[in-house]
Amino acid sequence: MTVFSHSRILSYELCPLRYKYAYIDKIEPEAEENVETYLGNRVHEAMEKLYRNLDLGYLMSEKEILTFFNREWEKNWTDSILILKENKTAEDFRKMGEKYISDYYRRYKPFQIGKVAQLEMTDYLLLDEEGIYKYFIRIERLMDMGYGLYEVHDYKTYLKLPTQEQLDEDRQLAMYSLWVRREYEDCRDVRIVWHLLAFDKEMESYRTEQQLEELRRELLEKVKAIDAAKKFPAKVSKLCVWCLYKRSCPHWIEAKMEEL
Ligand code: SF4
Repeated sequence: MTVFSHSRILSYELCPLRYKYAYIDKIEPEAEENVETYLGNRVHEAMEKLYRNLDLGYLMSEKEILTFFNREWEKNWTDSILILKENKTAEDFRKMGEKYISDYYRRYKPFQIGKVAQLEMTDYLLLDEEGIYKYFIRIERLMDMGYGLYEVHDYKTYLKLPTQEQLDEDRQLAMYSLWVRREYEDCRDVRIVWHLLAFDKEMESYRTEQQLEELRRELLEKVKAIDAAKKFPAKVSKLCVWCLYKRSCPHWIEAKMEEL
């Protein structure tokens, strides 16, 4: 049985060599994470805290949720977290997180539309009938909106606003919506919702069962090919600068030269 997550598949597509370092050789990454990932993780924790309390009947104030965010930021911060953007400090990123949370809170307060069905849940979706290939599911928030409509919510801290076309082709949340259709017998449709926190904006997409079946087949072929791969060529690109395996990679200097 082989489990493929969205990030694992993406890692292979972006650079097969980086995929090999991370998933086959299992080389220890050079840093725990970069500050963008760190910010995303802390914001997600704050959102989870807010909705867990709501589920218990308690609405946190904006101040309480920001206090939680800042406490977790301080507690988890280590100097090994990479800041690659020039002229930006950890404090700049912390303030960005505060703004994302405040904007979100003010936009959706008092959070009374729909019922939380799942928070930060994980599971697997079988890609084939034999159960050899599984797709990792991590739904940040699943809402039951009634009458068989469910919503898969995801918080993104992207600094570039995706186009509607890109979201309509997004594989990750589409696969999560397929999981919802399989798991919830009363499900008639799934609305996929992205919270683009840096833009204080909500975007959505819907998929038909036929589109999801096509996507499942496409991903199954993709993961079979990755699983059978014997060669892992480097794919030098601008994204190399974010790679956490640069010291192991003989192509990093070449990538750096291109950047210069
Ligand atoms: S530095 Fe670039 S080429 Fe080398 S492994 Fe990382 S992403 Fe691939």
